[in-house]
Amino acid sequence: MTKYDYDLFVIGAGSGGVRAARIAANYGARVAVAEEYRVGGTCVIRGCVPKKLFVYASHFADEFEESAGFGWTVEGARFDWKTLISNKDKEIDRLNGIYIRNLQNAGVEIIESRATVVDAHKVRLEATGREVTAERILIAVGATPFLPEIPGIEHAITSNEAFHLEELPKRVVVVGGGYIAVEFAGIFNGLGAKTMQLYRGPLFMRGFDDDLRALLAEEMAKKGVDLRMDADIKSIDKAGGELRLTLTNGDVVKADAVMYATGRVPNTKGLGLEAVGVKLGKNGEVIVDEYSQTSVPSIYAVGDVTDRANLTPVAIREGHAFADTVYGGRKVMVDHSIIPTAVFSQPELGTVGLTETLARARCAEIDLYKTTFRAMKNTLSGSQERTFMKLIVDAKTDKVLGVHLMGPGSGELIQAVGIAVTMGATKAQFDMTIAVHPTAAEELVTLREKWQPPAAKAAD
Ligand code: NDP
Repeated sequence: MTKYDYDLFVIGAGSGGVRAARIAANYGARVAVAEEYRVGGTCVIRGCVPKKLFVYASHFADEFEESAGFGWTVEGARFDWKTLISNKDKEIDRLNGIYIRNLQNAGVEIIESRATVVDAHKVRLEATGREVTAERILIAVGATPFLPEIPGIEHAITSNEAFHLEELPKRVVVVGGGYIAVEFAGIFNGLGAKTMQLYRGPLFMRGFDDDLRALLAEEMAKKGVDLRMDADIKSIDKAGGELRLTLTNGDVVKADAVMYATGRVPNTKGLGLEAVGVKLGKNGEVIVDEYSQTSVPSIYAVGDVTDRANLTPVAIREGHAFADTVYGGRKVMVDHSIIPTAVFSQPELGTVGLTETLARARCAEIDLYKTTFRAMKNTLSGSQERTFMKLIVDAKTDKVLGVHLMGPGSGELIQAVGIAVTMGATKAQFDMTIAVHPTAAEELVTLREKWQPPAAKAAD
C-alpha cells in the first residue's frame, strides 16, 4: 500500500481523462476522477456528438428538395427546433450514463466537484474543501471557448450555448473561420436561419489545404451562407430583442444571435498548476513531454489542455498511452504526425497528411492529382454541389503524402484513406487497388493524370 489516498487522481472526465482513468484502473490502479460539469466532457456533452446530430438535422431541407428529382413529393415538411433539442438532450443523457457506468465498472471513483492542484501529490475538491492525495495527478480539463474583448461581447454566444438555445434564431452571424465556425454556419443555414459568417483573414480554414479552403468557401456561398472574408465585428449593441453588429468596415448588420467560434483556450486558469511548478505555454497550455509528463514528474496532462492536436480521438489516444506507459508496463508514445480528420461542414471535408504548401516545403518535388465533379446523385437531384479530391505525392518516393477531400461522406472515407497514408502507401499502391463502382471514392484509385497548373497545360 502507498501512503496516498489514490494511485491516480484525474481532473476532468472528458475524452482523455475518462480513457486514462479507465485503463489505469483496469491495470489495477486506485483511481478517482473529478468532474465539475458532466462526465463525458466537451465532445460528448457539448461538442462533437450534439454537433453531429445537428448536422444530420440540417441536411434534411436539401434532401427533401433533392428528392423531387427522384420522383418524391414531400409536402408540409416543417422543422421544430424544440424537438431536436429535446431528442438531442435525451441522447446526450444516455451517453453520459454510459460514460459514468463504464468508469464505475472499471472501479473508478467519480467525484462531482471542481478540483484544483495544491501540491505535486495533493488536490482540493472545491465543492467540499476536502483535500486528497495521489501518487500521480492527471490534468485532463480540456479547453474553453475564447471570446475577444470587444464592446458588447456579453451579448454573444459560443457553441456551448448554441446547443441550448430556446429557439432557432432567424438571423445568425457566426464569427471565426475554423472547424466550429464552418460547421455551425452550415447547421444554421441548413435549418433555415439567414446565416452570415465573418472571417478576419482573406480565406478561412487556415492550416487546411488551399484548394479545400477555396472550394469550401464557394460551395458554402452557393448553399446560401453569406460568407464575408476580411471581416470582423467592432462592437455589438442590443436594442429591443435585436442585435446590431457594427463591422470593422463600418457596415451594420442586424441579427438575432451572434455566435463566436474564435478558438478555444486551455482550461488552466485557477487550477493551481503554476504555483506547484508546472510549466505552462503562452496560451496557458500545459507543456508536456512525449509521454504526457509535465515539468513536475508526478503530474501529467492529456487532451486539449496540452494544445497539441485538439481532437477527441487524439485525447483518447494520449490518455490510453499515458495509462499504458505508467500503469501497463509498456512505454507508448502518441504519433501526432499523421492525423486524419473530418470537418462536418456542408459540404463535408476529410483530410489526412500534408497540405500542398507543407509538402512543397518539405519535398524537393511533388506530384498533384486532382479531380472535381458532381456526384452521381446530383444528376437527378439537381444539386450543383461539387465533390473534390486531391492526392499529394512525393515525386521521388511515390509515397502519398496527403489526401484532401470535399463532398458527401468525406469524413467516413478519410478514415480508411488514413490507414493507407499512415502505412506509407505509394501512389502505385493506390492505383493497384481495384475501384469500387459506382462510388465517388473510386476516383481515389483511378486518378492517373498528374495535375498541372492551367498555364503549363496550355503550353504542352
Ligand atoms: P480554430 O482554432 O479551428 O479556429 C478559430 C478561428 O477563429 C480561426 O479562424 C481564427 O482566425 C479565428 N479567430 C481567432 N481569434 C480571433 C479573434 N480575436 N477575432 C476574430 N477571429 C478570431 O477554433 P474552433 O473554435 O473552430 O475550434 C476549436 C478546436 O476544436 C479546433 O482546434 C478543433 O481541433 C476542434 N474541433 C474539431 C472538430 C472536428 O474534428 N470536426 C469540430 C469542432 C472543433 P485565424 O485563422 O486568422 O487565426
